[in-house]
Amino acid sequence: MDFIPAFEEARRIILDSVTELDTENVELLESRGRVLARDVVAPWNLPRFSNSAMDGYAVRAEDCREGRALPIIDYIAAGGRATKSLSPGTAIKIMTGAPVPDACDSVVPIEHAQEQDGAVRVSGVVTQGQHVRHAGEDVREGETILSTGRLLRPYEINMLACCGQSHAWVVRRPRVAIVATGDELVALGENPGAGQIVNSNAYSLAAAVCAVGAVPVLLGIARDNLASHREILSEGLKADALITSAGVSVGDRDLVREVLQELGVELIFWRVNVKPGKAMTFGKRKGVPVFALPGNPVSSMLTFEEFAAPALLKMMGHKQTVKTMFPASLQSDLRKRKGQTLLVRVRLEYVNGKYLAWSAGKQDTGLVRTMMEANAIAVLSEDRETFAAGDEVLVHLLGGAEF
Ligand code: AMP
Ligand code: MG
Repeated sequence: MDFIPAFEEARRIILDSVTELDTENVELLESRGRVLARDVVAPWNLPRFSNSAMDGYAVRAEDCREGRALPIIDYIAAGGRATKSLSPGTAIKIMTGAPVPDACDSVVPIEHAQEQDGAVRVSGVVTQGQHVRHAGEDVREGETILSTGRLLRPYEINMLACCGQSHAWVVRRPRVAIVATGDELVALGENPGAGQIVNSNAYSLAAAVCAVGAVPVLLGIARDNLASHREILSEGLKADALITSAGVSVGDRDLVREVLQELGVELIFWRVNVKPGKAMTFGKRKGVPVFALPGNPVSSMLTFEEFAAPALLKMMGHKQTVKTMFPASLQSDLRKRKGQTLLVRVRLEYVNGKYLAWSAGKQDTGLVRTMMEANAIAVLSEDRETFAAGDEVLVHLLGGAEF
C-alpha cells in the first residue's frame, strides 16, 4: 500500500501524468517565455531588400581603383530610395540600412574613402559584395522560420516582429490554485497573535508559480477542520492545477490527503524518498494535478522547485522541464541517510574554472534565511552515505526560469 518512489522516479511519474494545455492567440509581448503552438512561415525575405551595412558609398567594385575619383550622383538615407540609376564610374552616398541599388555591388565605408568636390576617392582594396546585406540571406520568403514547440525568448520575439506578427499562437498558461492549511496561520496584513504565524508559504508558492510563467490563484487558508478543507479544496480543484501547503504529515489535524480523496482525487503517491520533502503527495483528478506540499517553508519551496515546477512547465509546452544539472565541488564533509536523496541548499561560486558549492547555512527546513542565501541546490544521490570536502556532486541553480 505504501508506495514510496525515489526522487527521480517521483518526478518521472508526475511528468508522465500531466499533459500540455490548449492554445491561445496572444499579443506578441505576452508570448515571451511561452511555447509556440503553430508554425510560423516567413511572409517575406529577410532582409526584405539588399541594404547597406555601413554608412558609406555604394559602388561597383570593379570601378574602384586606388585614387580614382567617382562622382557622387545620389544620396540614399535609411528609409529612402534611389532617385537616379548608377552609371559605371560613379558612386551613391548611402547610409546604413538604405537599399543598395541593383547596379551597385559593394559599399565602401566612409572611413575608407575621401569625399571632395562632389566625388569620392577610395583607399584600399574593395572586395565585391562587401558591406552589402543581401535580400533573403537571413530568411527566405515561405520558409518555416519558427516551429511549434519553440520557446519564445526575446530573440524569437525579434524574428516574429520582423515577420510582422503582432500576435502569436502559444500554449495557454495554467491557473494554479494555492491553498494554505493550518489553524496557526493569519493572512498577510493581519497581526499574528500568540502561537500564530503569517501564511508566508502562499506567497513564496505564488511567486514561484509566476516565475515559471503560470498564473497563481490565491484561495486563502483552509482551517484544520473537514468543512473548511472541503470548501476550499473543492474550489481549488476547479483550476488547472492545485497546490496545497501543510497538513500532509501524520498529525491528527493533517486532513489534506483525506479530504482530497473524498473529493475524488486519486492519490498516486503520498511520500517521496527525499529530504526535505518526504511528505510530498501527488494526485490527480480529471487531468488536474494536485501537489500537496509539506508545510515547513523550505520543504514547500523545494518540493515546488523539484516536482511542481517541471509539471507546470510541461503543461505550458516546454521541452526542458527539469533544471540542468552540472558538477560542483562540495566544500564541506557531509553525512546523510543512505537510500534517500538529500537536497542541500548551497552557495555556488565559480573559482579558477570550477564550481565550488558551500553550504548556504543550517539546513533546518524552517530556516528561510538559508534558502535566501542559497543560489543552488546540491542533489546528493540516495546511494551514498558520506561525502568529503572536495567530492564532486551534482547541482542545479535556484531561482527564476532559466530562459
Ligand atoms: P504541518 O504540515 O501542518 O504540520 O506544518 C508544518 C510546519 O509548517 C509548521 O511549523 C507550520 O506552522 C508551518 N506552516 C504551515 N503552513 C504554513 C504557511 N502557510 N506558511 C508558513 N509556514 C507554514
Ligand atoms: Mg498544519
